[in-house]
Amino acid sequence: MMPQIESKDISVHNPISINCPWCKKYVALMWLGFYKDAYGNSSQTSFPYPISFMNKKAYWSIGECPSCNECVIIKIIDEKIVHIFPNPLPSLTDERIPLNIKNDIQEAKLCFSVGAFRACAAMCRRAIQQACIKEGAAKADLDKQIDDLKAKGIITEQISKWAHSCRFLGNDAVHPEHPEVTENDAKNVLNLAEQLMNILYIMPAISQEVDVNHERKK
Ligand SMILES: [Zn+2]
Repeated sequence: MMPQIESKDISVHNPISINCPWCKKYVALMWLGFYKDAYGNSSQTSFPYPISFMNKKAYWSIGECPSCNECVIIKIIDEKIVHIFPNPLPSLTDERIPLNIKNDIQEAKLCFSVGAFRACAAMCRRAIQQACIKEGAAKADLDKQIDDLKAKGIITEQISKWAHSCRFLGNDAVHPEHPEVTENDAKNVLNLAEQLMNILYIMPAISQEVDVNHERKK
């Protein structure tokens, strides 16, 4: 039976799913709540929905991973999660992306997850350049490599624009005289880089799988 929670300083938010920083699994957190039982003894239980305790700074919750039973502390302000300690791991990157490029995207995500936005943008730029080299771009500079792939018909005009956008933000990340890379910039460049790899590698692999399965059924 659920214990009675009387404190007005407890709030309920939506369930939260994260990549557990301890066991790396994607899990819906269980929430620890503390209460006094009918005899006045302190006790604890877990709930499927978040329970928060408020102080002057924020709401704070303790989430327990149902898989490994390790815990995270979550700071909530205005119903938004502002910090999770330790940082949840980023989502895994698709195995169908070539390994060296996948590793760059994964590292970019890891940088983003700890607020290293410049490093995130720099890793995205690196991932794009690795993809250009893999696709046979002839030139040395990334801007020319992107244009080379477009000229050869390997990428479309639209995708080349995405790649150039990643390049601009990546350049901002590595040149001290360029503007700062904001959280939003990093989010955008990561999104663009992932979508680009999606089109270059994941969609063709899925299409091939569909064709193979179709042939088998004949
Ligand atoms: Zn876990």
